[in-house]
Amino acid sequence: MKRREFVRSALLASATLPAFKFVPALARSGPIPDVAAITGDGREVTLRGAEIRELAEKLQGHLLLAGDNGYDQARLLLNPSFDKHPALIAQPADVAGIQNAVKFAREHNLLLAVKCGGHSHSGQSSCERGLQIDLKNFRGVQLDAPGRKISVKGGSLLGQVDRETMPHGLVTPLGTVSHTGVGGLTLGGGFGRVARRFGMAIDNLTSMDVVTADGRLLHTSARENAELFWGLRGGSGNFGVVTHFEFKLHPMQREVVAGKLTFPFESMRDALSMWADYAPAAPDELYFDPVVMMPPGGAPAIVQLEICYSGPVKDAERALAPIRKLGTPVADTVTTMDYVDVQRSGDIADPRALGTYLKGGFISSMPGELIDALVGGIKGDPRRATLLFFQHCGGACSRVPENATAFAHRYALANMMTLSGWAHGEDPADHIEATRRYWSGLEKFTRGFYVNDMPREATAAQINANYRGNHQRLVALKTKYDPTNLFRLNANVQPKRT
Ligand SMILES: Cc1cc2nc3c(=O)[nH]c(=O)nc-3n(C[C@H](O)[C@H](O)[C@H](O)COP(=O)(O)OP(=O)(O)OC[C@H]3O[C@@H](n4cnc5c(N)ncnc54)[C@H](O)[C@@H]3O)c2cc1C
Repeated sequence: MKRREFVRSALLASATLPAFKFVPALARSGPIPDVAAITGDGREVTLRGAEIRELAEKLQGHLLLAGDNGYDQARLLLNPSFDKHPALIAQPADVAGIQNAVKFAREHNLLLAVKCGGHSHSGQSSCERGLQIDLKNFRGVQLDAPGRKISVKGGSLLGQVDRETMPHGLVTPLGTVSHTGVGGLTLGGGFGRVARRFGMAIDNLTSMDVVTADGRLLHTSARENAELFWGLRGGSGNFGVVTHFEFKLHPMQREVVAGKLTFPFESMRDALSMWADYAPAAPDELYFDPVVMMPPGGAPAIVQLEICYSGPVKDAERALAPIRKLGTPVADTVTTMDYVDVQRSGDIADPRALGTYLKGGFISSMPGELIDALVGGIKGDPRRATLLFFQHCGGACSRVPENATAFAHRYALANMMTLSGWAHGEDPADHIEATRRYWSGLEKFTRGFYVNDMPREATAAQINANYRGNHQRLVALKTKYDPTNLFRLNANVQPKRT
């Protein structure tokens, strides 16, 4: 995604951490105080020090309280505007530890957040005074190259997967920024540079293991717990903590043709019109995505076309020909690149420096009226970065029936998004208001939103409607597997009251 445009650098070191073994540990010595906490439905509770110690002993990982080393790093998300303070943070290092943390949350009815990569746009992976399960110590992948599959632990980051599979000429479609979490991205759907060719992340899952609200570990696949497998694919984090994702792999050469064509801001209308004509008809191997950037500080605004062509290199120029008709760009970085480098090219160097606010929704086409609204409504401001960008969908993503998985937006040609970014610490009110104002002219062209880009202020009715024809089936699953709505910090499906 394009926040990467503000600050870029190499892959976050944490993306490449190997799995390692923990001894049970509280980060502090001496007596554990009682801790005030909150339940999922907002009631005050007190967690006794002895109970907290018992959880720490069962965790095979770390248990952090406010003031402990690592507490602030764990509670904060990529977007520092979410400044929440969990009562406890559990960092389990194995499946049993995850089960014990879930059981503890259930026994105390605690408000529960689950954090993988921490990229949530709505701040759902941390919580105020509840229990946060932070999966950062539960990362790693196991590749079966001959069997063309990879098993990925539930706390892993995308970069770990590409780095393992590409040396074998294999790929599974994940997102575009390598430090995004596999957990959140996959459970919401998962779009990326090769999704038009190989489908969304959820379309490539062969199984998942999940710890449900009662603490059980269930294996799910098309043959086992098949209904739960259906709901996990697009149902957000509603059904439990996924401990393992198994993805199928596709043969793909390492070299792709990728980069950016940069044009002056005045080309915005022409670039969007070209995209409107060519994006629906483009070959599945071509992912291209218009970005309009109005940087802070008054630097000139630009229009970019981000490109990744993953078919045979010799065919790339033919696929790019309609794009080239836009004229000579002011900068052209499109060249033959290693796919793993392309996947890291948008990583953010200092993720905690930038407050952001995003609005987004799916479009099935880009009519002239939408182009008018996009061009006419965009306004820069020297105090913030303003961004308009699209994630190109369609292709294989659209060739799956809407009820085959819980993800119900197969019609989408693109995910259209706009974002403000400001220096963390500034008052965000104006920046948020500016994004809302722009979005108010765009929203009527959308048909629903990506649960992974769920607006902070989405109401229960909007979330229910967004699951479209799949909502009732999800309610039945939720009622069966999570009747107390333990897993509520997500695009929440509410269980039926009994
Ligand atoms: C910089 C950036 C780039 C992005 N690029 C893309 C992209 O290319 N394609 C795309 O499709 N989306 C993209 N997104 C959106 C992204 O998919 C969502 O933000 C997603 O929620 C991130 O997952 P995470 O694990 O990093 O987030 P987290 O904040 O850790 O988690 C998000 C949600 O997922 C749940 N969750 C996470 N892991 C698990 C698990 N193992 N079990 C159960 N629940 C879990 C959490 O409870 C939470 O509700 C991007 C977001 C950002 C900020």
